[in-house]
Amino acid sequence: MIDTIAALASGRPPAALAVIRLSGPAAFAAVAALAGRLPPPRRLSLCRLRQGEATLDEALVAIFPGPASASGEDLAEFHLHGGTAVVAGVLAALTALHGVRLAEPGEYTRRAFANGRMNLSQVEGLADLVNAETASQRDQALALVGGALGRLADGWRERCLMLLAEAEAGLDFAEDEADVAERLDEAARHQLLAMADELASLIADSARAGRIRDGLSIAVTGPPNVGKSSIVNALSMRDAAIVTPIAGTTRDAIEVPIDLGGIAAQLIDTAGLRDTDDPVEAEGIARARRRAASADLVISMASADAPEWPSPAADGPAHLLLFNKCDIASPPLPAGALAVSATTGAGLPALRDWLGNWARSVTRLGEPALLSHARHRAAFADAEAALRNAAHAPEPVLRAESLRTAAHAFGRIAGRIGIDDVLDRIFSRFCIGK
Ligand code: GDP
Repeated sequence: MIDTIAALASGRPPAALAVIRLSGPAAFAAVAALAGRLPPPRRLSLCRLRQGEATLDEALVAIFPGPASASGEDLAEFHLHGGTAVVAGVLAALTALHGVRLAEPGEYTRRAFANGRMNLSQVEGLADLVNAETASQRDQALALVGGALGRLADGWRERCLMLLAEAEAGLDFAEDEADVAERLDEAARHQLLAMADELASLIADSARAGRIRDGLSIAVTGPPNVGKSSIVNALSMRDAAIVTPIAGTTRDAIEVPIDLGGIAAQLIDTAGLRDTDDPVEAEGIARARRRAASADLVISMASADAPEWPSPAADGPAHLLLFNKCDIASPPLPAGALAVSATTGAGLPALRDWLGNWARSVTRLGEPALLSHARHRAAFADAEAALRNAAHAPEPVLRAESLRTAAHAFGRIAGRIGIDDVLDRIFSRFCIGK
């Protein structure tokens, strides 16, 4: 017998409301036990919830019969007053009933997946949606929840299966039909290579999808005391980094999340670059250089009191030269450089605009980017390799085998096959009640 699971699905009490969800075969019996009756399905009904003589709450209750419910099982929701004692009382009363226990993190979604209510890429999208902090992360997550990637992968899988059927038919050509077989072979090879190229461009675009999901990284570098920490604080509008007139204060990279017009980014305040005998500071500087090398953008700073510009690596990430303390002095600047004052705020709106434009152009906001997860990229890359193998296969038997491998790789996206090892990792991203 499957357990019935109960959990608080809304935020931590106290709050105006709290939602407790209940899913499983004993869900409706549990509702009847607390509410004294079973309300009509898919409608909120006001019920007095009791345990024995005690009233637990006056609450709105809805029941959703399976299999058309979110979890695919009989599911109920209690919309309670969001007090700690109310929530604790209802959860205790529910779990005291036979067959009802508290849910594990992600267990509702896991049941939805097991019951075919969602495919695996939709589950991943749901986890992204719950964690989305910016508009672009939300849009990308919603596309995934809506099944856009699953449909794409299914379409590809269908194409592979059709070619597989053709390859298998090709196995049966008689000797005297060799010329027909040859022509079909050529057409199939052409199609396979075109498909592989299409996949390659989707995979090439996946770095962009990853940037939208994980956020862009922006390293702020320059000599000590140019105002790196002041700029990070000013842009993020919080006092995350320590600002002092003493050179060498920032020893380790500090990351501060910012929202660049709906695009997530991390500003990384790094240790000031200078020669030092202090081993801790030297390690900080080495880390600063590493962070700068792997960032999406490096803001190289100079200031009125340290006017030398660093020379950006030609093959390194995108660069912005930023001159700070323009309230003290404003010398002529190299082309493309911006002047600001962290103290007076002068130039900061222009800096924000510049960063917003840069973020929009690297993420190409508005264009859907579907392969945002390493798991999806890996499956598509496997499929691409298999399609190229199929195109160059010397015999129909080998072509069929490679096409099977490609179809299998696409099947992994929706979670049809070969996913046991990833399930725990995916569901561990959910909180209890989801
Ligand atoms: P960092 O070492 O590069 O991170 O520099 P900090 O942000 O710690 O700033 C070093 C010193 O410069 C502090 O005393 C700041 O108050 C000062 N400072 C930062 N920005 C400005 C600015 O725009 N104008 C002036 N006059 N002083 C600034």
